[in-house]
Amino acid sequence: MELTVLGRHGPYPAAGGACSGYLITSGETRLLVDCGAGVLGRLVALFSPENLTGVILSHLHSDHTSDYFVLRYALEVAHFQGRQRDPLPVWAPAEPAEEFARLDYRGLVNVHKVEEGQAVEIGGIKAVPFAGRHSVPSYGWLLTGDGATLAYSGDTEFFPELEEKVRGADLFLCEATYSEVQLAQGARNHLTAAQAAAVARCAGVGRLLLTHLSPPQDLAVLLREAGREFAAVALAEEGRTYPVGA
Ligand SMILES: [Zn+2]
Repeated sequence: MELTVLGRHGPYPAAGGACSGYLITSGETRLLVDCGAGVLGRLVALFSPENLTGVILSHLHSDHTSDYFVLRYALEVAHFQGRQRDPLPVWAPAEPAEEFARLDYRGLVNVHKVEEGQAVEIGGIKAVPFAGRHSVPSYGWLLTGDGATLAYSGDTEFFPELEEKVRGADLFLCEATYSEVQLAQGARNHLTAAQAAAVARCAGVGRLLLTHLSPPQDLAVLLREAGREFAAVALAEEGRTYPVGA
């Protein structure tokens, strides 16, 4: 199983960058997790979107969903040209209801409500959601394929059970929106890089990749603060592919 980072920013992209978007592949399975601003252009550089096996939206904030609405047009074109045969399965939280209602599109997608802990099979990948703590319902996911597990945090602030949720993952892709100074100043709804790294250490994950990086942030500060907690840490790099597990 491999992870390709299509976008690593939030809540808006850095110059030339993209918001959250992660392609996870295992054999023939191509799973897209989140589809924020700028992700679709990166995806179509790799393959045509109707060849996706499924889409997971961690939560319904625009920096994780905006290009999903454009992806639907690509599916529609593929459908008219006879290339898309079955609706693309999509998983997303049911709330906010008005956002969830916007996901369905002309029978080209098959939208499923995410239920805490309810595993789904997406091609060759087993996917298990767990609830985070954010300003809207947000789910992290454990994705297992080829005997390896990727844990993705979605958007969340710290909560004590997070460590148990991601325990033993080979690769932990975790949001790291804030610095320690910003947390002390009252920043909420997201993790700091140091919190992400402390969770990684306590959970015994193999490696940590920091993502959901805010453009004005000094990334060297985030990496330094994380590195004090957990050595096997790096910033997610857009366009790079990471093996999950051995
Ligand atoms: Zn969010």
